Amino acid sequence: MGYIHCCAGLRRSKSYSVEPEGNYLSAQLDYLEECPVCGHTVAQLTRVDLDNKVSIYRKINEKAKKMFEKLKNSILFEKKPECRNSKMYSGFYLYYNEYGVKKKCYSNLSSLKIGLFENGD
Ligand SMILES: [Zn+2]
Repeated sequence: MGYIHCCAGLRRSKSYSVEPEGNYLSAQLDYLEECPVCGHTVAQLTRVDLDNKVSIYRKINEKAKKMFEKLKNSILFEKKPECRNSKMYSGFYLYYNEYGVKKKCYSNLSSLKIGLFENGD
């Protein structure tokens, strides 16, 4: 998840990894559909060239939309926020815990079965 600076604050934007052009090592496109304060559409392209120099192109509104349209075909993948990954892990952890509890319950039930059989008779 990227951030775009607009209206004296950082706004959450979508981040895409873009296939870099010839003289660049990497490129990232941050796209803010609508700033919650001014309503602007902001597109920001951050590129790192072969000398590790970072250059940033920033466009707003119509120009931002045009830039996004132009780069859309070069998008390699959307960069997912890292917090979502840790959420996934905690979800897995919970599931694991749940499984542990179930197992415990199951062993309790099987020991209770003796009681049930006696009732049945
Ligand atoms: Zn703004």
